Amino acid sequence: MIRALGLTILTLALAMLPAGAIAQDQIIRVGNLLTDADAQPSGPATIIVRDGRIAEIRRGPDAAYDAVATIIDLSTKTVMPGMIDLHVHLTGDPGGDFWKATTEPAEWGVVVGAKNALVTAKAGFTTVREAGSSQYSAFSLRRGTAEGIIPGPRIIAAGPALAIVGGHGDVSGFTEEVNDLLTGGYSCTGAVECAAKVRKASRAGSDIIKITATGGVLSQQGRGLDTQFTSEEMQSIADTAHSLGLKVMAHAHGARGIEAAARAGIDTIDHGTFADEAALRVMKDKGTVLIPTLMAFKGVSERLDKGIYTPVVEEKIRMTMGRVGKAVTLAKKLGVPIAFGTDAGVFNHGRNAEELQLMVDAGLTPREAIASATTIAAKTLDMDQEIGRIAIGYSADLIAFDGNPLDDVRTLETVDWVMVRGRVID
Ligand SMILES: [Zn+2]
Repeated sequence: MIRALGLTILTLALAMLPAGAIAQDQIIRVGNLLTDADAQPSGPATIIVRDGRIAEIRRGPDAAYDAVATIIDLSTKTVMPGMIDLHVHLTGDPGGDFWKATTEPAEWGVVVGAKNALVTAKAGFTTVREAGSSQYSAFSLRRGTAEGIIPGPRIIAAGPALAIVGGHGDVSGFTEEVNDLLTGGYSCTGAVECAAKVRKASRAGSDIIKITATGGVLSQQGRGLDTQFTSEEMQSIADTAHSLGLKVMAHAHGARGIEAAARAGIDTIDHGTFADEAALRVMKDKGTVLIPTLMAFKGVSERLDKGIYTPVVEEKIRMTMGRVGKAVTLAKKLGVPIAFGTDAGVFNHGRNAEELQLMVDAGLTPREAIASATTIAAKTLDMDQEIGRIAIGYSADLIAFDGNPLDDVRTLETVDWVMVRGRVID
């Protein structure tokens, strides 16, 4: 009886709608539509979003749906696909106070991450790749934004990163007894143990395997910025991950570490600071993607000489200065694919789009920079049938702003409206 009544009400409701429309449709009136980094802005359009996906795109304004659907008026704005940042650390904020590893539980990362997920989405980023978090905090965050419990981008999460014992990504800087207590259990030695840690990360829920292939700037280890894992270990990590259907992202600064990681079949080189021609040629041959994270260097240089970082970290920051952006210029010349990533968390979350101008300064055209943050980033995630463009059937991941980003990418530093998977972020 109740069921029959429910059906009657539904039937009546449907009878009142124009053909093809259902009540939860969102009708977005667009002033200037940029569907894709390869296209030109094409003027006014109407986008119809249904169940979180782009159901229709009509050129020009369309008033047919006014009575029955949620209308979102962006008729004075440019609308393009939401951007993708392939290297963020949502669960952390900038700080040189490494001792907090002893006082802040991993759960705190979820609270910080919820705040940063909102900030990141509001900055126009509708998908992020979480590039390493305190234990499993990023996995809870991933579920929170997917289910719409907390507002934020779609999260592709690495979870805990694999490191060598005492290397970048492992714990260092404390007494050895404390280092032992704080280590996350994802450091490894030798091909067999490293394969086991990849499988453990997969079991824990990693979408991608993150490794620290070389030394890094913000850890307390003072052994430079080149190779840490052996080639055999990296080969084992890449082969094991690929056998599980997972890609590998490598934090890498030094040229020989980059070259070895690419040769092992690791999928993306993040930072890539000292990449030379030999390293980039191997990347080109292997199809390895460079993710420059130029904002990371801007972020740490803004905080230099302020007593924020320890002397060992300050020294490593100075090693990278004067190098920043050079790998991007050379990578473009050699035809190495370049995708967008920032290392947000090293600088304040929400500034991610400033990376675009830094890429342009390093020699990319505005169109190439925008492609790096949309179509190329989507392809790097193997999600190019889901995100990165505005097309029928794609996830409704949209942003609105003033101006034409193909003329000036800095227009994307001020985004006025964001939708992730059909949900308006506010
Ligand atoms: Zn990072």
